[in-house]
Amino acid sequence: MIRPRRWAALLLLAVAGPLNPAAPERIPQPRYVIFLMADGMGVDELELARQYSLAVLGHDLFLTGTLAREGSCALMDTYSSDSMITDSAAGASAWAVGRKIKNGQIAVDPLFEEPLQTISEYYKERYDFRTGIVTNDAVTGASPAAFAAHVGRRGSVQEIARQYCDQSQPEVILGGGRSDFLAGKRRDGRNLINDFVALHGYRYVESAEELARLRSGKVLGLFAEGTLTFQIDRAPEGNKEPMTTEMAQAALRILSADRPRGFFLFVEESVADKAGHKTDAAAMVLSVLEFDHAVAEAYRFYRRHPRETLLIATADHETGGLQWELGYGWEEKIRAADRREGERSPVSRLATVHASIGKAVAGLKEQLTDEERARLRWRYRQFQFDSRLERALDQGRGTMGRLGDKWDNILALLVAHNTGAYYEGSAHSPWAVPLFAIGVGAERFSGHLDNTDIGQTLFRLAGRQDFRAIPTSGPLMTSPPRVSPSRSFETRKSTRDGEEEGFTFDTQEKTPAGKAPASKTKRKASSSGPSSRFQDDED
Ligand SMILES: [Zn+2]
Repeated sequence: MIRPRRWAALLLLAVAGPLNPAAPERIPQPRYVIFLMADGMGVDELELARQYSLAVLGHDLFLTGTLAREGSCALMDTYSSDSMITDSAAGASAWAVGRKIKNGQIAVDPLFEEPLQTISEYYKERYDFRTGIVTNDAVTGASPAAFAAHVGRRGSVQEIARQYCDQSQPEVILGGGRSDFLAGKRRDGRNLINDFVALHGYRYVESAEELARLRSGKVLGLFAEGTLTFQIDRAPEGNKEPMTTEMAQAALRILSADRPRGFFLFVEESVADKAGHKTDAAAMVLSVLEFDHAVAEAYRFYRRHPRETLLIATADHETGGLQWELGYGWEEKIRAADRREGERSPVSRLATVHASIGKAVAGLKEQLTDEERARLRWRYRQFQFDSRLERALDQGRGTMGRLGDKWDNILALLVAHNTGAYYEGSAHSPWAVPLFAIGVGAERFSGHLDNTDIGQTLFRLAGRQDFRAIPTSGPLMTSPPRVSPSRSFETRKSTRDGEEEGFTFDTQEKTPAGKAPASKTKRKASSSGPSSRFQDDED
């Protein structure tokens, strides 16, 4: 029997405690928010990079070896309001505004295309936080734009640059995309670089060396006309362009100078997605390793300010349907077929590739010249060319229907046959992606989440208790339909002028003998309707 005094105490607890819905929940608020994302990095990309790191570098990734152990982990769904498969615009917008919107839209209402306030704009308006966007893609690309611009079409890159200058003004803007800022390239004839400097007091830099010297203030750094050079294509030293980690490091230094009220920094490593679209496992792995370095750099900042910092590292979607297909007994097969000393894993052969597929196939026509053929053989001299690939090289592209009619898919299969790293396609997939978090409020980013949960939780951690996501109509609002993995699917790509060009990337030759070949179920990269016109920019 409980004594009356205890009853009173329990009653008091019930009134004041967490069970009382009227009691305000104490929510810790981060002062420094660092949001890092690797475009196109699904669980499989992360795992292949981890296996590469273990085999070639002899250590685990920072993400899996340290952050996953010390912080929180989650799987995150990525679908958009009009498609089971998101693009980067809707994907990053879900984090930035906490709502599902359509593919191709950036931080706008999906129906009326009115601007929706982003988390970084909210921090700036309410708390006078500094903000920063960093990417090795164009800074006007969909992922960074989702935090600092509002447009109905992600292809409106000149308008995105204008909004950075005239409206959102992030204190730190680092990446590529210089041509979107230049008078000679812009339809309105403005030189936005001049306007940033003359009207708003920014310093403008164009090289890693100049960036390294900056300590504080407002900075616009544009290091390439378009996208920065892939890691795999960079010279060992003497590069003018900074790496993603160097840009993240500079942004953290500049944003945290002179005790600011706080900051929100978004960092994108974009190559994993671009490599996935090219079915280029070697370029993808180096991108994930670079992302891992950038996250480790952000973690060092967190360690200096553990009670004030929230660090999130995730991806917007998976690209290409990567899998590492080896099968039982591969160790024996590899040993028999391979004479190299000290090889611990077939994935370590990716380290022998020193150019992206895009670079390797640049300028190749229908038929290879003797010189081009010799150059390709030299580039991939560590790999064995099987008879199918030899035939493909002999006959030229367009004759390899099952592999697709592109040299890049032929080279991707060469890499895949030698390493086990196969791409099932070259479009975004609907699979859930990994998320890691550490610091203030990190425990709220665990379990199986939706990408809008990230945005909504960020708003709540920022003190906006009234934040409620407004549901949008559409069949995908409750949960995305399950899709069984097919062995073959067709992707459709649009060219810049809107003409559609279809191709099939089929891995049928891997089907075990006697088994019916893959179902020909078609999985479209995106639904038809309004979003399809943005496909030319899909990233
Ligand atoms: Zn993409």
